[in-house]
Parts: sequence; C-alpha cells; structure tokens
Amino acid sequence: MAARDVREYHTPSSGIFFVPRRRLLSSKTPFQKMEIYETDSFGRVLLLDGLVQTTERDESFYHEMLVHPALSLHPAPESVLIIGGGDGGALREVLRYPVRRASLVEIDEAVIKACREYFPGLSSSFDDPRANVVVADGNEFIRRAGESYDVVLVDSSDPVGPSAVLHEKRFFSRLKKRLKPGGIIAAQAGSPLFHLDHLRRKAAFLGESFRFARYYFGPAPTYPGGFWCYAFLSDGVDPLSAVARGVPAGLKYYNLGIGRAAFAQPEFLNPKATAVKTKDAGNRRK
Ligand code: SAM
Repeated sequence: MAARDVREYHTPSSGIFFVPRRRLLSSKTPFQKMEIYETDSFGRVLLLDGLVQTTERDESFYHEMLVHPALSLHPAPESVLIIGGGDGGALREVLRYPVRRASLVEIDEAVIKACREYFPGLSSSFDDPRANVVVADGNEFIRRAGESYDVVLVDSSDPVGPSAVLHEKRFFSRLKKRLKPGGIIAAQAGSPLFHLDHLRRKAAFLGESFRFARYYFGPAPTYPGGFWCYAFLSDGVDPLSAVARGVPAGLKYYNLGIGRAAFAQPEFLNPKATAVKTKDAGNRRK
C-alpha cells in the first residue's frame, strides 16, 4: 500500500522526511507506536513514536560508533551488557569480538520480533549462542541484576517515554555498580546541534560520577543534525591515552583512525565557547 510521506520534526521548523514505497508495519505496542517503511533512499526504516530509530542505509555509522571504541579499548572484554538495542545492530557488532557472553535487555519484545522479521541485516545475531536476550526494563534489570560486566552499552531511544530514565544520573550511578574493575560504559547521548543543553547537563553529572567521562562524535545522517554524540565512561580506561587492540574485519565505517578522531571536541562544546543557540532549538519530542 503506497503510504503518505513520513515526516519527523527535529525542531518546529526543520526535520527529515521519507517518501515510502510502502508501509510494512504499523502497530501500537504496550510501550510505544512502531512503524516500519520500505524506502528507496534508506531501505527499511524503523520509527518508534514517530522518531527514526534506525535505517538499513546508515545504521552501521551509529552501531559501529556506539560499540567499537569501548570494545577495542577494553583490554579483554568477556562479558557485555546492552541496554535497549532491540533492533540487534549493537549486538551484531559486539559479537564480532571473541566475547564469552553478550546480554541484551530490551523493554519491548515487539521491537525484537519486528526486527527479526523486517531487519535481517541487523537482527542476525539474536540466535548466536553467546547472546542472552532479556525482555525487561533496563533500569529495573540493573537494579536487580547480580552480574557485573566488562563493557556496558546504552542503546536507548530519546530521553522521553520508557527511555527517559536511561538518560538520568541515578541510572548511570546504578550502571557503574555493574562494571567490573577497569570496565567501560558507552552510551548514545544526543544531537550536538539540537540537544546542547541536555548534553551539557549530562556532561556535568557524568563528570562527577566517572574518572574518565568523555564525549565522542560520529555521523548519523537520519538523526537530528546529522551527527551524534556518545559518552565514553570509565574509572580505568582513558580513551585519550589507551591504545586500541585493533578492530574486527568487515566494518563499514569505523577504523582506529576514526576512533581517535572521534574524541576531538568541537569548539562549541568547549565550556568557554558561547553556546550555539537558535530560536527553535529543542528536543525532537515536544
Ligand atoms: N539508536 C536509536 C536512537 O538513538 O534513537 C535507538 C535504537 S533502539 C531501537 C532503542 C530501544 O530502546 C527501543 O527498542 C526501545 O524499546 C528500547 N528501550 C526504551 N526504553 C527502555 C528501557 N527502559 N529499558 C530497555 N529498553 C528500552
């Protein structure tokens, strides 16, 4: 069925649109509205509550930038925890490494099911024997969980709805208790262009909680502003001085040079610089 244009507003006066060839799925899950479209420009596109989560064409930029800095800088990652990430892309990247076990904790089972069916390139690792897929609220899971991890990856959606808690200080303090000594957390953080206040607030509490709390950046063509910010958090590993062990073969975007450059801080994030303020900058969900 030909579908009408799909629009996502990043600000009241700007955003992204797709002219889908057809709508593959539209459903209301217990947590959110889920839509999947077939498009010529970006292949299949997953939206949750009207927000682009992933597209077949550019997902590797995001997933490789979320996963490889932490996995390649940790001396010997054996146990990995992914919070969110129900599309499977982060899990696929983690299982390129010889890890012993990778647990993925996704709140919405419907997302996992839909991505198994419509995104085979992303969900290809759900059946790997090292994968432990848990359907639960990530915040509740780490509150109850007894296990600790070498690397934790937070592949959450925006700081609203079920995902709001995954951007808060108390969540990261709890997550820190789940890290083994020398452990690393990497978390998607937001748009340096449109979520600057949010990033600054987060930088303040992350800097208090971790010895090394560093933002890094990468392209995300279908996310607000086209480039994305991630947080690298550790008490043991400083990404500015640690030497990466190497990265797996077969990556589409990431390599060690990209990894080093990603930690270079843009001037406008330099606290002394004047903030880039525009009249209608703001979070993409009003
Ligand atoms: N990269 C995407 C982004 O930046 O918008 C996120 C992709 S991934 C699909 C986000 C996943 O987090 C969704 O499947 C959503 O259901 C899940 N999620 C949201 N809140 C959660 C929570 N509290 N615990 C676990 N998973 C959660």
